[in-house]
Formats: sequence, structure tokens, C-alpha cells
Amino acid sequence: MPLPAQLSDAVHRFAALPSILVATDFDGALAPLVLDPMESRPVQGGMESLVALAALPGTVVALVSGRALEPLRQLTGAEDPLLLIGSHGAEESWLPDGLALDDTQRALLHDLDAELVDLAADHPGTRVEVKPAGRVVHARGLAPEASTAALDAATALGARHTGVVLTPGKEVVELAVAHVGKGVALVRLAEELGVDAVFYAGDDTTDEQAFVALAEDHGHAAHRLTVRVGEGGTAAQHRVADEHELVEVFQAMLAARGGR
Ligand SMILES: [Mg+2]
Repeated sequence: MPLPAQLSDAVHRFAALPSILVATDFDGALAPLVLDPMESRPVQGGMESLVALAALPGTVVALVSGRALEPLRQLTGAEDPLLLIGSHGAEESWLPDGLALDDTQRALLHDLDAELVDLAADHPGTRVEVKPAGRVVHARGLAPEASTAALDAATALGARHTGVVLTPGKEVVELAVAHVGKGVALVRLAEELGVDAVFYAGDDTTDEQAFVALAEDHGHAAHRLTVRVGEGGTAAQHRVADEHELVEVFQAMLAARGGR
């Protein structure tokens, strides 16, 4: 199916700019949401079109995810020159050192771990994902009331600790001891690269923060192109139905930029 005319026009205008950053969320944008996070896979053509875009002059491609850097790298197979931003901006693939936590942050993680053992016992079916700078409580697959109860308990647990940043998502809540945010990370990267324009696509609350950050960033607001994947209220300029339609956007961008 062809892309909506407005989106197609916007992609052509964006692709005509000399230097661009093409960034996208992974889960729910490039890969369908699945029960087991490690079973998630990018849809067909997704990584291929991003790799092809990254090979074009004046084109930088970045994956921006709440996931930790290592699993993100594993699941996408992404390698240079693709850039990876993990843990909502707390980890960046181009930095030589990994994430460095101070003593207070490490102690806080230790406390969270102890309390999350109890939480998981009280709410059967919840899973706790371990990340370098935080823990994520997953309630996907639970009955709606059980899911809400587990996520409320996790939120209350996090709120009891100073220094924990709570980030809710689709049937998940993250408790992080170091937090940057996708919006800040994306604007910072665009600044460092000195690009004319930024594309960003995503499907969740944390991506909404990035849409807003780009709209408010004077350096890039005029030339930004933001796309919400799937349903829900959004601050993005455009919307696509699903992961497959997002791949069509990348392919249109690639064709418009002379890549294929
Ligand atoms: Mg997502």
C-alpha cells in the first residue's frame, strides 16, 4: 500500500536535506512486541533498509531503545556505522567506556533487587529484567487486573527510593538509577553530529518524550520528521499503522535519497 500523501511528501522533503539523522525505537516500532523480550525480532526489511540508509553520504542512522545496549546489539545485529542508544540514553555505543555507576547508585540497585524479589513473589507471572542502570518489571501476558496491580506495586516501590527514576511503558515499568531520556539523548546526538534534520519513529510513552524534545529543539524543529507507530495519542507529526509501514517509510526515504 502506498504511504499517505502527506507522509510521502514529508519523507521526500526530509530526504532532500544534505545531512540527516534517521533514528528509530526498536520494540513496537521495528519489531513487534512479544511476550519474551529476547524472542523479539525486527520485521523483514527493517534492518536492511537502515543499513542501506547508513551507507549513504550525509546519513547517520541510530537505534534508540529502553533496552540495555548489549541485548539491543544482539537482537538487531547492528554494527558500525549504525549507532545504538540504549537504556533510554544512559548507554551509547560510540562511547569507549560502558556505563559507570557511583557507589550510591550501586547500593540503590542492590536495595531494589532485594525488594523486587518480594514483589515478584507477591505478583506471580511478573518478570524482572536486569539492566546495567536499572530493573524493569514486565507484566505482559498477565490478566489486566493482575498486570495493573503488579505495575502499581513496582511504581510504589520505586517511589519510596530517592534517586530512582520511574519510566512507565506498555505493560512495563522501569526503575532506573541513572536516567537520561530518549529526547535528551536524541537532541544531544543531533547536536554532536551537526545534522540539518532528525527523523524519529516510536510507539510508546518514552518516544513521545522524544517527539516533544525534537519539536522544542530550535536547531531541528523546523526540519524534524516524527512518526508514531500504531495507536495512541501522540505529539508526532505523522502516524503509521505498524512496523511494516515504518519499513515502507525507510524504503521511500532510501529511494528518495538515491539509495535504491
Ligand atoms: Mg517501543
